[in-house]
Amino acid sequence: MSRAIYDVAVVGAGPAGSATAALLAERGLRVVLLDRAGFPRDKACAEYVSPEALRILDRLGVLGSLRAEAALLSGMTVVSHRGTAFTGRFRGSHGFRGYSDVGLGIRRTVLDTRLAHAAVAEGAELRERVLVESVTPEGDGVRELRLRAGGRPARLAARLVVGADGLNSRVARQLRLSRTGRLRRLALVTHATGVDGMGDVGEMHVGRLGYVGLAPVGLGVTNVAVVVDLSRVGAPAPAERWLHALIPKFPSVAQRLRGATFHGPVLAAGPFARHTVRATADRVMLVGDAADFYDPFTGEGVYAALRGAELVGETALAGLADDRLSADALASYDMRRRNEFGRKWTVERIIAWTVGHPLALEHVAGRLARRPGLADLLVGVTGDFVPPREVLRPSFMLRLVW
Ligand SMILES: Cc1cc2nc3c(=O)[nH]c(=O)nc-3n(C[C@H](O)[C@H](O)[C@H](O)COP(=O)(O)OP(=O)(O)OC[C@H]3O[C@@H](n4cnc5c(N)ncnc54)[C@H](O)[C@@H]3O)c2cc1C
Repeated sequence: MSRAIYDVAVVGAGPAGSATAALLAERGLRVVLLDRAGFPRDKACAEYVSPEALRILDRLGVLGSLRAEAALLSGMTVVSHRGTAFTGRFRGSHGFRGYSDVGLGIRRTVLDTRLAHAAVAEGAELRERVLVESVTPEGDGVRELRLRAGGRPARLAARLVVGADGLNSRVARQLRLSRTGRLRRLALVTHATGVDGMGDVGEMHVGRLGYVGLAPVGLGVTNVAVVVDLSRVGAPAPAERWLHALIPKFPSVAQRLRGATFHGPVLAAGPFARHTVRATADRVMLVGDAADFYDPFTGEGVYAALRGAELVGETALAGLADDRLSADALASYDMRRRNEFGRKWTVERIIAWTVGHPLALEHVAGRLARRPGLADLLVGVTGDFVPPREVLRPSFMLRLVW
């Protein structure tokens, strides 16, 4: 078994891992980017990318080519259990402007492949179909990774390991940086053409079992994402059969999908009950879903992955310069994450609670339908360019309630 030593080994080439690898390789570091999949690979996702994420995609040099293949989304519509709908636009009258006035609806097969190639263009070494099996304890100034590539064991060593291996991160679990709660929710995602009435906004349809997202993703294709609370649905079934059994439970969606043609596989994801205790250990940093998972309802995961990569980049560059990479030395990254995302986590929890309580959602949806300025502000927060404090103010909350 051969053993190479890198400055940084990034586990997972999703948006978080590829962006991290690109930003560190661009600064001349020796970076290896490992993924168990081969690209292009798909990922269960509603495929909405927020306006502020476009800033980082631009920084990484991929925005132009992505825009050419994406649907441009000008806002979000939410439909309650009883059909009350409100729409928030990114270009609102609130005075805040994002990096762009639109978000993107873009296939993950395209987005993730472009980002992985951007990392390679900056000098990172991309190794596909390589499963990271374990991270050994720190020793001799490196961490060692045990790999399986082409059915054979291999290993490599790096001064810093970045765990960007997604929702069920093996790196986080192995280093006891995360805890998993009981299975609560499951997502089933597929694509369809011929969906009735799709416009230039993403849509969220809330029902008693959960919610369904509809998002245009370019070339007349719509992403259909069903997220259900497992305590409210019956026994599990194969993904495709389950998806088609669940759609009729959301009447506003079922009607729109009546003449649609479904394409490709149905991808399943979950549970969403993981909680990360901290995002750093000796010579290890977590980023993206490995560091924290967002409720898909607000569609902020890709932005958090890209912005998280920027934060990793800044802390890692300083730490690698003088080899200060202990858990204590990296703790500033945990603090920066809290400062960056803390209020967003609060807004997300409030939205998740409201979505799970039909009477509360009905009331709030009615208020937002009558006051589009408030809807614009809320959607701007989920678009990552309106500061969350704007909707956490008592005055905003009061206007939603009374
Ligand atoms: C149903 C659903 C809908 C969503 N909708 C949206 C949305 O509309 N907008 C949005 O912004 N976010 C959305 N999200 C969240 C978004 O998908 C994630 O936040 C985002 O993918 C996180 O990126 P990541 O790079 O951290 O992880 P991932 O994209 O999951 O990438 C992780 C990578 O790690 C690799 N990997 C895992 N384990 C190993 C291992 N042991 N060895 C080697 N490689 C490994 C995987 O193959 C994968 O390529 C949604 C999520 C779900 C579940």
